Amino acid sequence: MSHTPVVLTPASADQAVSAFGDGSGVTVIGGGTIVMPEIAGRRASFSKALLLSGAGLAGITRQGGVVRIGAATTLQALIGATPDPLSTAAQRVGDYEIRGQATIGGNLCAGPGRETPRGDLQAPLIALAASVRTAGAGGEQVQPVEDFLESGPAGRLVLEVEFSEPTRGAYTSMGRPHTHVYTVLSVACAETPEGLRVAIGGAGPTGARAPSVERALADGASVEDAAARVLDDVEPQDDALASAWYRRKALPALVARALADIGKESG
Ligand SMILES: Cc1cc2nc3c(=O)[nH]c(=O)nc-3n(C[C@H](O)[C@H](O)[C@H](O)COP(=O)(O)OP(=O)(O)OC[C@H]3O[C@@H](n4cnc5c(N)ncnc54)[C@H](O)[C@@H]3O)c2cc1C
Repeated sequence: MSHTPVVLTPASADQAVSAFGDGSGVTVIGGGTIVMPEIAGRRASFSKALLLSGAGLAGITRQGGVVRIGAATTLQALIGATPDPLSTAAQRVGDYEIRGQATIGGNLCAGPGRETPRGDLQAPLIALAASVRTAGAGGEQVQPVEDFLESGPAGRLVLEVEFSEPTRGAYTSMGRPHTHVYTVLSVACAETPEGLRVAIGGAGPTGARAPSVERALADGASVEDAAARVLDDVEPQDDALASAWYRRKALPALVARALADIGKESG
């Protein structure tokens, strides 16, 4: 016997959290730019869909030097209203129609543990030392974005991300000309209250921090020497966009460019 799919449309964050429960059997739909084509193309189906668009989870607030962004905030809304590297990364995603519909929560959940490529906002959020507030089994939880990406989004409803305002930020990316796809590689840097942080997108299944680059800079290495250390932090992979070989060749130069953009002098 087939069951009629249920679509839940919570009108508040509390309703969304209670409708999500422990997440079993629930398909969350943020902007739907990944989920909807899957459903329409019959590559995925759902028994219970949770639409976040009316749940009051969109918006950017600032208080005491902390930036908070609701999970249903669109990528378009991030542009110019959030600091770099996040603003520029959002600007470079897909097309206007995608940016206007896609959400930061969906971007964070794109990739890890799923059959979709990683979201391009993951590296900027790692560079910004962002934390993610989620709900699910055991209640609400706040964790660093790296930990969230490592454990994967299964069973968690992303409610909000937050980070301290950086002093400076930079974002460099490499795409495929004349295509509308995820970046081949990206580098995000931010001067945060805890120091300079560097993160890489596109080298693996999720964004990743580059601690060896950060340490080398702190120890006084030149930009070029520090940038070369990035290959100690990430193991570039082959995919349909580029080979691991190409990524290994290009990544140190991209890191050096991002460091120059944030004001680090070449030595
Ligand atoms: C033409 C095109 C171009 C694109 N270009 C890019 C690009 O350049 N860079 C890029 O990063 N992406 C790109 N994308 C992919 C996608 O648009 C973005 O990653 C987008 O941010 C996904 O967000 P969404 O809200 O639409 O996600 P959805 O489709 O709503 O959801 C994606 C996944 O996240 C889950 N999810 C959504 N919100 C939450 C939440 N709050 N809590 C828990 N789980 C949640 C969903 O269940 C689903 O598994 C592109 C897509 C298209 C169609």
